[in-house]
Amino acid sequence: MRTGRLNAALAVVALACVGLRAAGADRSPIEPGLDYHSFANVDQFRTTHLELDLRVDLQDKTISGVVELELKRLDPRATQLILDTKDLMIDDVSQKATDVIGATAKSEAIWVSRPFHLEKPDPILGSALVIDLPPNRKSVESIRIDYETQPTAGALQWLTPKQTAGRHKAFLYTQSEPIGTRTWIPLQDTPQVRATYKAIIHTDSDVLAVMSAQNGSKVKRNGEYLFVMPQAIPSYLIALAVGDLYFKETGPRTGVYAEKPAIKAAAREFADTESMIAAGEKLFGPYRWGRYDILVLPPSFPVGGMENPRLSFITPTVIAGDKSLVSVIAHELAHSWSGNLVTNATWRDLWLNEGFTDYLESRIMTAVYGEQRASMEAVLGLESLRAELPKLKPQDQVLAIDLRDRDPAAVFSGVPYQKGRLFLEFLAAKFGRERFDAFLRSYFDHFAFQSISTEQFTAYLNENLLDRFPGLVSHEQVLAWENDPGLPANAVLPVSSAFQAVDEARTGWLAGTLKSKKFGLDWVPQQWLHFLDNMPAVLGAKQLADLDQAYGFTSSQNAQIERSWLELVIRNNYQPGFARLENYLTTIGRRILIEPLYTDLMKTPSGTEFAKRVYAKARPGYHPSTAEAVDAIVNPGAAEAAE
Ligand SMILES: [Zn+2]
Repeated sequence: MRTGRLNAALAVVALACVGLRAAGADRSPIEPGLDYHSFANVDQFRTTHLELDLRVDLQDKTISGVVELELKRLDPRATQLILDTKDLMIDDVSQKATDVIGATAKSEAIWVSRPFHLEKPDPILGSALVIDLPPNRKSVESIRIDYETQPTAGALQWLTPKQTAGRHKAFLYTQSEPIGTRTWIPLQDTPQVRATYKAIIHTDSDVLAVMSAQNGSKVKRNGEYLFVMPQAIPSYLIALAVGDLYFKETGPRTGVYAEKPAIKAAAREFADTESMIAAGEKLFGPYRWGRYDILVLPPSFPVGGMENPRLSFITPTVIAGDKSLVSVIAHELAHSWSGNLVTNATWRDLWLNEGFTDYLESRIMTAVYGEQRASMEAVLGLESLRAELPKLKPQDQVLAIDLRDRDPAAVFSGVPYQKGRLFLEFLAAKFGRERFDAFLRSYFDHFAFQSISTEQFTAYLNENLLDRFPGLVSHEQVLAWENDPGLPANAVLPVSSAFQAVDEARTGWLAGTLKSKKFGLDWVPQQWLHFLDNMPAVLGAKQLADLDQAYGFTSSQNAQIERSWLELVIRNNYQPGFARLENYLTTIGRRILIEPLYTDLMKTPSGTEFAKRVYAKARPGYHPSTAEAVDAIVNPGAAEAAE
């Protein structure tokens, strides 16, 4: 990376990287709203619209074609447009001739090649694509880039037919948040730039392509698919999947895309989606995206869900058969307000997306499934945050985390989610639920289709809540929530009466006064999670066998309960569970489920041996981001050496 000709943001990134190398170097204060993870010169140009014409080659595992960027020129003197790319081959860059001063109507639609070059790649951020342009007084310019992806593209997972549920056709999906879009589209890859898009996707005629856009659900399978996203969205929400997909309607504006073997179960599991939308609208204002469909991915999908607008991408591991894990759907749907409508301006501000979404999720779950279930899930969330906090450095326990010099993926701890939610719960407790929900509704209206920083939110909060209803919460308390590590003492912690019986049963069973078959008959999965997650560090093989025999944990169909059980299997070296563990790790790629298992395995020599053997088998089936994360756990030396 170099400075000089690049913009101020890039210069700061470069300095930050130098700072990283000089350990303990002083840090300049963060400039709020400045995206340290993009090279784009957004003060000079802003993308307003993208037109994609792409070929997805499932055999060669490449995406190739053209992106046309419509840009608003903010600076008539600017002579360079800087875009984000990573691992992309750029074949040609051209500019629409009519955009250049002096061009005549005759030259309409004629594209003029422009000089361009790729900067030296940064291992995290990729390469700045620098395009030379003449100065221009016109306010709109169109740039066209011919390009091709590489096999190393970090946002893409190419699955062989064997790695899919149907096992007959290859599959491609994208998972781009936070900065992966630049590995498959050259663009201003920063959440503070919002653009509409149109796309034509060409691929094999026997597969279906879907995108985070208006999808014709009755589209003929012919290998050419058209998409329109009429609302301006940030780049990380542009999403694509191609595979042997089918569609089933679940409500007037909801439906499910999945491979044939999964479609029926998915439609049953997600049948309440329309009720969730209605609950969200009642609380937080209209759903502004038209349809809300769900795409069920193969099990390698690295996250629980991704809130791609109009089409959430969802892991199949939430299909438990009893709707017990559908809070993930409430979460992704809630992003239609927090995240997709009002977006974090930079990755440091992620808690504005995720903390708000966890709060909305909880409100929607309460409306659809009742207080009891929502409070159990809130307690489970708090328990996971409590377990995670001590493992995080103090500076990573704050809401707006300093991510300079780091991969912004590092921001995805429980802090922006759970601590962010608890901050909003604190405000709701102080101002009253109704007043606070009304505040949120006006916040979504006020900042609709904008990207904002923590500081902008705080100013809005002060003006519209703190100062309007004085004496309830001080500005200092807000700043402490945002900037101090750990959980503030004034946090309003969730409690669940349904867990009391569970705690009593566990205590009785551990003391030998309660037989295993005497409890749990009417428990819901959340109670089993609480039961397993709060076991003491050491259990005997006999105890585990007793539980397993009584409740069949080793063959549980609930992926979340199975993970909690497998943690006990590993911790206590319970041999009868290891075959299931191997099967679990080689079929599921959702990071939150498998990373803790690898971490626990690496604590003993025999576990390490097992982890390395199984990982060698599992790795080719994981998404690149999962592989990168597990590499760091299983082969930490190699990961460091590669840096
Ligand atoms: Zn989320």
